[in-house]
Amino acid sequence: MPELPEVQTVVDQLGRRLSGRAFAAGTAFVWPGTAGYPEAALLAAELTGRRVLGVRRRAKYILIDLDDGRLLVIHLRMTGFLHFAPPGAPDHRHLRARLPLESGEELRFVDMRKFGRFYLGTLEELSAVIPLASLGPEPLASEFTPETLGARLAGRGGAVKSVLLDQRVLAGLGNIYADEALFQAGIDPRRPARGLGEAEIAALHAGIVAVLRQALGSGGTTFRDYRGSEGLRGENEPDLQVFHRQGRPCPRCGATLLRCVVGGRGTHFCPSCQQ
Ligand code: ZN
Repeated sequence: MPELPEVQTVVDQLGRRLSGRAFAAGTAFVWPGTAGYPEAALLAAELTGRRVLGVRRRAKYILIDLDDGRLLVIHLRMTGFLHFAPPGAPDHRHLRARLPLESGEELRFVDMRKFGRFYLGTLEELSAVIPLASLGPEPLASEFTPETLGARLAGRGGAVKSVLLDQRVLAGLGNIYADEALFQAGIDPRRPARGLGEAEIAALHAGIVAVLRQALGSGGTTFRDYRGSEGLRGENEPDLQVFHRQGRPCPRCGATLLRCVVGGRGTHFCPSCQQ
């Protein structure tokens, strides 16, 4: 499942390929459910002729700024990925949408599980459809400080792991990097968020920033159906310290790493280093 670093990698690649280019007629949602708002035929018609000003990210949403002030928003969800194809290239068996460009090339959306969605509208319109307005701070923005994190965790009785996954608390952190950040910080993922001390919050802040920056540097983590928009695979997997490594020795202390379930999500940690 793509997380912040993977989505940022896709955004960077899309920005290079799409900026300044226009969508041609012929956008088609092979599976109409991929169009989240408005419905497929209208979304396709409204996109025709629109030029891309730039591509950016908010949490795990890809925001494509169009020349009429509206946004094309793409949410990859679990298995969605984008790629560019020359005209006439054979369809992938899980092709859900094709977006022809003026240049003749097509931007294609492939999504095995069909959870991915496209949205088109003004920021105000879209805020009624997707929770863009209620998202927490971006963990890699300068506004995200240990104090910001502390204020967001204060009063939260839930497990710190679950609170970190709440996109209203922090935007873009998912299961992989929540586990990795808690390991970096030496904090047991099951502890109540509100019980963390000032030094622990500072360590957690540093851990979140470090694991995301490190993953960004390597183009995101390779998992299942994640691909960069050019079909590239991220290369971060060997750098993960605890995620999906239960039963193996902790890279720091040698104790056996464990897996448990926190808030319904598989959680990986060292019972010795993380207190
Ligand atoms: Zn350990």
